[in-house]
Amino acid sequence: MSLLERSMGIQTELYANFTEHEQVVFCNDRQTGLKAIIAIHDTTLGPALGGCRMRPYSSIEEAVNDVLRLSKGMTYKCAAADVDFGGGKAVIIGDPAKDKSPEMFRAFGRFVDSLNGRFYTGTDMGTTMNDFIYASKETNCIVGVPEAYGGSGDSSIPTAQGVIYGLKATNNVLFGDETLTNRTYAIQGLGKVGYKVAERLAMEGAEIYVTDIDETVLQKIKERGNELGTKVNVVTNKEIYRVKADIYIPCAFGGVINDETIEQFEIKAIVGSANNQLSYEKMAERLQEKGILYAPDYIVNSGGLIQVADELYGPNKERIIAKTKSIYTSLLEVFEKSVSEQMTTVEAANRLCKKRLEDRARLNRFFLQSRRPKWDIRR
Ligand code: NAD
Repeated sequence: MSLLERSMGIQTELYANFTEHEQVVFCNDRQTGLKAIIAIHDTTLGPALGGCRMRPYSSIEEAVNDVLRLSKGMTYKCAAADVDFGGGKAVIIGDPAKDKSPEMFRAFGRFVDSLNGRFYTGTDMGTTMNDFIYASKETNCIVGVPEAYGGSGDSSIPTAQGVIYGLKATNNVLFGDETLTNRTYAIQGLGKVGYKVAERLAMEGAEIYVTDIDETVLQKIKERGNELGTKVNVVTNKEIYRVKADIYIPCAFGGVINDETIEQFEIKAIVGSANNQLSYEKMAERLQEKGILYAPDYIVNSGGLIQVADELYGPNKERIIAKTKSIYTSLLEVFEKSVSEQMTTVEAANRLCKKRLEDRARLNRFFLQSRRPKWDIRR
């Protein structure tokens, strides 16, 4: 493919991704070296909310594509979780290991502030809560900072809890009984979310198969299994796709449901926290053809989002737990719609989210005094 054809391909993809976004902002601060892009996809439900990812993108196009795709995903995730936020995301172009500085995140905070409350952000891949302590000195539109700084703390706790609710809803549909015990689970990735899920399943006495590239977490879960009297089976990174289990739980990285892995699966369902698990959306049809029940990732992993969105009201643990529980009912609704209207679970989830957006958009039809334009001198 020639350079021209390649660049035309990228441009077509960019335009295709840009057809629905409200606003995209390029941020450049020469002093700190900050190069960031903020994308606001849809603010029907409220100000845009989405994490800020830092990666050494190989080109501006790659960064733009990523931020456009991720911010759109956030619109659906917020709608599915029924929180009063819209879809947004930010990316910083740079190597998180080398290019970060407190000043860079302060500069980023100033750009976020310039959006005047249209965009709220916090950590994502490559950024930490510590980075956002600096950003929060420049703007109030930061979420997910440590509790000592007024935030709600570790979001992997509600995320893992949400996965557990997802597993219960799925067991209910598969076996007519939501209990976690007496089932087998294959867990990929024992990080902040995956470890908590594995530990909970081990506590329930379920049989678990686990994999990770980090030997220390594998050792840790094995010891925990021994303490609890539950067998923990460690398998390799390749074997995890072939494990004969009831449910596969991807908690490491995206794209794990692809042309190669789908041929190997010997599972009944997939329920995990990893973002963008399907390598492409049509993969949902292939899972359905294979008789594998797929719990859409953006519903299963919305516990963390529920927690940061809750900061809008001042964090409250009981409220977060109660709201995270709704992942159970949301999934059941998606599974039922998928059966009754004969569509994939992904299509069913997307349609429910679109309906929620349309219903809310209708609310905006009547005039509110507080929305009167500032230039209106008769105020
Ligand atoms: P993490 O970085 O703490 O954990 C990821 C784990 O996967 C690590 O233990 C890592 O060693 C392991 N891993 C990496 N490559 C692997 C491989 N090839 N095979 C097996 N294991 C591998 O991340 P996390 O916070 O636990 O998140 C897990 C997933 O869930 C990510 O995809 C994340 O985007 C998604 N997610 C997390 C949250 C949250 O609140 N933390 C919220 C929504 C979605």
